[in-house]
Amino acid sequence: MNMSRCAIDMHTASHLLAWFVVTLLSVYQPQTGLAQTNYERPVANAPQAEDIGDGYQVPLVQRTPPRSLAIHVLDIVLLVAGMAAIAWVVRRGRRRWVITVLTLASLAYFGFYRQGCICPIGATQNVAASLSDPTLAVPLVVLAFFLIPLLAALLVGRVFCGGVCPLGAIQDVVLLRPIQTPRTFDRFAGLIKYIYLGAAIWFAVQLAGQRDFIICRFDPFVGFFRLNGTAWILGFGALLLAIGTVVGRPYCRYLCPYGGLLAIISRFAIWPVKITPDEELDCGLCVDSCPFGAIENLRAVPSKCLACARCFAHCPRQQLSWGEIELVQLEDMVANAKTQGTPTGGGK
Ligand code: SF4
Ligand code: SF4
Repeated sequence: MNMSRCAIDMHTASHLLAWFVVTLLSVYQPQTGLAQTNYERPVANAPQAEDIGDGYQVPLVQRTPPRSLAIHVLDIVLLVAGMAAIAWVVRRGRRRWVITVLTLASLAYFGFYRQGCICPIGATQNVAASLSDPTLAVPLVVLAFFLIPLLAALLVGRVFCGGVCPLGAIQDVVLLRPIQTPRTFDRFAGLIKYIYLGAAIWFAVQLAGQRDFIICRFDPFVGFFRLNGTAWILGFGALLLAIGTVVGRPYCRYLCPYGGLLAIISRFAIWPVKITPDEELDCGLCVDSCPFGAIENLRAVPSKCLACARCFAHCPRQQLSWGEIELVQLEDMVANAKTQGTPTGGGK
């Protein structure tokens, strides 16, 4: 990256950062903060006395029990720690196994333990709704989950997707034999997530009563985390997971609205993923190693790169830095790649 490009990116990044702060101030109301905002369910939608029996009296409203402050703090600490660990891997550590461990841990905690409830993807709607309706406030923990991955994307790219997001994690663990999808298909199918993002914001900013949170309603994986859900949504999730055994993370690449936001922001990443540990050889040995089609012109494209670190192992310079090959072998590999094409890879 030359200095002028870097200066432009830094300039743009600082504007985006300012935008985040303005967003934060405009949608966050301190009185709701980490304190509980009770969700009140009207009695009409609640189980009725005759359904329950035994003289049960239905209360005027039903309130969810408040969550403890400790679990909110733990959620945010784990979110930040997970993304920091992935940022370290993609910038310095360069060990894929660390991301695999984080992916499994995230799936267990944010997925099955927290039941996919702490979710920046759905929070997009809360933020949009609160921006359009001043009577709505977003709890600080929801706002933090929405903004922190975006801020991280501005710095180092999509590290949230790398191994912290439970929806990405569940797709990553089923990816067995990735194939390369046609670039044209990727380009057009990848537009769906932006249309979905626009539709989700549109439905979220409607007047109360007409408002709908379609991202949560059509979340394909939350049913697995909660071990319930309608047959069709579970079937949709199962279909995506079945496709995901050979097509890397189809929901992330083509459907996820928050992934669309991350893709936009990460274009301005100051320190994005770099396939080589140091200087680029332009040997092309990594080209087919990415299961998400994120390597173009021998570079990781920040908006598409999901910070999974799979490509690192295919870089001869990486192997050299691990002491696995000698310099003479490196020269042979590069020469072969340039004359014969490149091997394919990917997988775990
Ligand atoms: S693209 Fe969406 S679903 Fe996939 S890992 Fe990123 S935030 Fe999660
Ligand atoms: S370029 Fe592809 S393989 Fe490399 S880190 Fe990004 S998503 Fe993973």
